Amino acid sequence: MNPWIGETAFLLGLVVFVAIRVPHDKRSKETKIAESRKGALEATLLVLMGIGGFVLPLVFILSPLFSFANYALRLLPLLSGIVCLGFSFWLFHRSHADLGTNWSNSLELRENHRLVISGIYKSIRHPMYAAIFIYALAQTLLLPNWMAGPGCLVAFVLMLVFRLPPEERMMLEKFGQPYQDYMAKTKRLIPGIW
Ligand code: SAH
Repeated sequence: MNPWIGETAFLLGLVVFVAIRVPHDKRSKETKIAESRKGALEATLLVLMGIGGFVLPLVFILSPLFSFANYALRLLPLLSGIVCLGFSFWLFHRSHADLGTNWSNSLELRENHRLVISGIYKSIRHPMYAAIFIYALAQTLLLPNWMAGPGCLVAFVLMLVFRLPPEERMMLEKFGQPYQDYMAKTKRLIPGIW
């Protein structure tokens, strides 16, 4: 199949993903940050996400630089990628809507930060990360190139490994027993499993 089909689906997906975030980003910025734990590691992880989810795909789509790592695009990965994209949009939108102004793109607590345990947060503790993971999976399925396809997935797995534990520690320190109870009732990313 022509790789342009996957590339077009990926680019449209990227635009939709960013469009879902923009209004929430604007709204959250109106609420002051009360505490930030954004260190060098956090900043590095965000840069890696930018490289894996944006720079590498654009280099692949716009230049022949990664052509040595191309492979054929097939129908099943293409369709699975489109389904993953659709699901990730829904989950991303739902988690942003439920988290409201308590959202930050880093390890931060906002003024009057409220613990959210309802809506999609009733099912898992990190629905937004689940959405980004599924989106990264979609990128892997849609871009038939070993450099650009898995870029976001690799960066995001690192993000999960290094951000989840300190984020949960921060929430435990801030909310104490209610967060402990929430942890006892829910899994991180996959309902009932992990
Ligand atoms: N990990 C969550 C949120 C990602 S945004 C998810 O994947 O859905 C990251 C910020 O959200 C963190 O810095 C923290 O301040 C905030 N946060 C995480 N879980 C929260 C919760 N249950 N209620 C309120 N804020 C939360």
